[in-house]
Formats: sequence, C-alpha cells, structure tokens
Amino acid sequence: LRLRAGDAAIVIGLGRFGSAVATTLEEMGHQVLGVDASEGIVADHASRLTHVLQADSTRIETLEEIGAKDVAVAVVAIGTDIEASILTTSALVDLGIASIWAKALTASHARILDRVGAHHVVFPEREMGDRVAHQVTGRMIDWIQLEDDFALVETTAPADMVGRTIGESGARQRHGVTIVCIKPVGQTFTYATAETVVQEGDLLLVAAEARVAEAFANLR
Ligand code: ADP
Repeated sequence: LRLRAGDAAIVIGLGRFGSAVATTLEEMGHQVLGVDASEGIVADHASRLTHVLQADSTRIETLEEIGAKDVAVAVVAIGTDIEASILTTSALVDLGIASIWAKALTASHARILDRVGAHHVVFPEREMGDRVAHQVTGRMIDWIQLEDDFALVETTAPADMVGRTIGESGARQRHGVTIVCIKPVGQTFTYATAETVVQEGDLLLVAAEARVAEAFANLR
C-alpha cells in the first residue's frame, strides 16, 4: 500500500531524513503529521508542516492519542536512537498500520526492523553511498538500483553505437541492455525506439541487470 492523494501519513523523527520525507509528501499534496520528541525540532517545523506535534513515539498510548491509528502510511525516520526506532516501529505494527517504512543505519538494525514487522526498510546512507560510488568513476552519471540485481543507469553512448539506430546497434542482443530514453546534446530526454539514431555525446538511460548495466557504462 502506498500513499494516495488525500491519504494521511505520519512521519516520526524530523531529523534531516524525516524532515525531507515529510515536507516532500506535503508538497505532493498529502496530509502529513510530523512527530518529534524534541521541542526545538518541532518549533523548527511549525512553518514548514501544517501538522506537527511533540511526542514520544515509543509509547503506543501516545501514538493512539495523536491519531496514528488512522493513517495509511507511517515513516519511522529515527536513526541514531535504535531503541526508539524499534519500539516505535513495533508500536505501529501493533496499531495495525498497513504500510510502515523504517530507516535503518546498519544491517543489524534493518534485520530487527524487519523482524518486528516493518514493511519496508530503507538505508539512506548505504543507498546514497552505493550511488555515489557508481557516479565518481565518471562512467555513470546516475545509478539507481531497483532490485538487488537490477539497475537503471544514465551514461554516455559508447563509440560503437554512434551513427547507428538503436536497433542496428544491437543494444539488447549484443550488450544485454534496454535503452529506455535518450537525450541528444542540448535537448531533453525522450523515449528511445529501435529507429532512434544515436549521436556522439548522447546520454542514454539504460535498464539492465546491475552487472550488465555497469559493464555497458564502462564500454568506450
Ligand atoms: P537524521 O540522521 O535524519 O537527522 P536522526 O536519527 O539524527 O536522523 O534524527 C531522528 C529524529 O528523531 C531526531 O530529531 C529525534 O529528536 C527524533 N526522535 C528520537 N527519538 C524519538 C522518540 N522516541 N519519539 C519521537 N521522536 C524521536
């Protein structure tokens, strides 16, 4: 279950990560209740979020009092205080929230969140670190891992594709990748078809198994 327009979400822990999640959800038109134990953090968000409350989310009674039971989605964005993160997540599970997202700092933290019943566990630091590692080599302009073994990569067109259509270049047969979109120099991204001619400097958005996508981006 994901948020639909009008469905309410609760974001617990308004540090850098939780704050970004809450404000973006609100900008997207969703109803958001932001919660943090710190008075200062709550005051900081008074002008940024329509609904923000100071509360200790580890107590299930408190969560009930603030109406957490009625939300469609809960995001537990408490990182450093692992005990608070786990207690909050398990209280939300006990309340029967249909979609609980929790942020983990380490693999063992993630395992426990999963055990207590979080539906989605995210690792912002690890995921961003992985993405930056792929970008710093200069071959991959952007890298998004969709599943453990599947990725979307933004890269420049390799020399042997230049001057040919995507169909002729055999992207799928020879390289095992699907060219999803193409961005000619100075233009915007458009859908790629078998007839699209690849030119020098074109950016390609490529979908493939992670290792295959990486190998494709390293072709020159
Ligand atoms: P980030 O790295 O995204 O800044 P932190 O883990 O540092 O994340 O921040 C998490 C936030 O969660 C802090 O603002 C903290 O006040 C809040 N928090 C910690 N424990 C609780 C709790 N029991 N109830 C509600 N909020 C909490």
